Amino acid sequence: MSGQARAAVFLGDGTYEVREFPIPAAPPGGAVLKVEAVGMCGSDVMQFHGQKHVPGECSPVVPGHEIVGRLHEVTPEAAAGWGVAEGDRVCVDEIVKCGRCRACLACGGGLCSNLHLYGYTMGPDHEGGLWGGYGEYMRLLPNTHVMKAPDGLTAAELTVFEPLANALNWVSSVRVGPGDTVVVQGPGHQGLLCAAAALARGASQVVVTGTGADGLRLKTALELGVHHVVDVDAEDAVARVGELTGGRMADVVMDLTPVPATVRTALDLTSMSGARVALAGLKHFTPVDGLLTDLITLKNMSVQGCAGSTPAAMEQAVRLLADRPSIARTMAGTHVTLDTVEHGIALLERRAAGEDAVHVSLVHGD
Ligand SMILES: [Zn+2]
Ligand SMILES: [Zn+2]
Repeated sequence: MSGQARAAVFLGDGTYEVREFPIPAAPPGGAVLKVEAVGMCGSDVMQFHGQKHVPGECSPVVPGHEIVGRLHEVTPEAAAGWGVAEGDRVCVDEIVKCGRCRACLACGGGLCSNLHLYGYTMGPDHEGGLWGGYGEYMRLLPNTHVMKAPDGLTAAELTVFEPLANALNWVSSVRVGPGDTVVVQGPGHQGLLCAAAALARGASQVVVTGTGADGLRLKTALELGVHHVVDVDAEDAVARVGELTGGRMADVVMDLTPVPATVRTALDLTSMSGARVALAGLKHFTPVDGLLTDLITLKNMSVQGCAGSTPAAMEQAVRLLADRPSIARTMAGTHVTLDTVEHGIALLERRAAGEDAVHVSLVHGD
């Protein structure tokens, strides 16, 4: 295979450069993807600044783990095993397990000891260098989990499959269901998709809270179909949820903000018996001031840490986008190119003057 592909390489010090790599050949049993679009997320920003949070993460790196593209070269083994052909548009699961280690062979899983994550664990010096969605092409290893993308959505719209898979995994782990009032704190793209996932699971009332700076995001929450939004700078979230539930309070609170204080609010927002709290927003390892664990005890509350996704949740996410493409369209947000990655980072860090976006994707040219 000849030709060159461009890729953004994050250097880990708050800078990046666009480098050229030869378009790679498929690894044995794997494939080569022509990346069309990749979602940008908060963990990309951490990588940009060299903050590591994933096992085996390397820096510098070609980041990008919310990957949608067309299969450019497919080995016969991958075609048979994955049920795909060259030219198919696919969503790529970032997690690649070896399938051979003790954890992989044990029922119920555990952490694979040879785990690879696209966009994190293989650097620009590793076998051809293109292992993340910020490259125009990338290699796919034989154990990759890919799903054919539904028709009718653009590649940029489809990139929300990855945060939607997280959201579906998390609403499942806190058992959201019909009859539940669910409060989502933090209307970033991951929070908004948690609200969409709670609605998809049949929650009876979904409330999203944000700050006065979140106008666009709260408006988007309403477009997704949530029942109420609360601007916590203008009104007291606990009092408002009290009103909305006739004093019963929430069955499930999902915390997705980057600030520790909302963990305390989450405990106050819950009902008196059997509520579930999902902690999904990372707080930069800052402790929570004034945490009253007695509330957890007295309310018989379950507190669930939520990180990442599963292959089953990814399949649900892609199917949900096929059934309800409006989720992807509503969440599409804006996009940047390889030449304007810096602007995407600024949007994610919310320092792009006068501009906000519910989601940012990097779209590669033809
Ligand atoms: Zn992500
Ligand atoms: Zn393994």
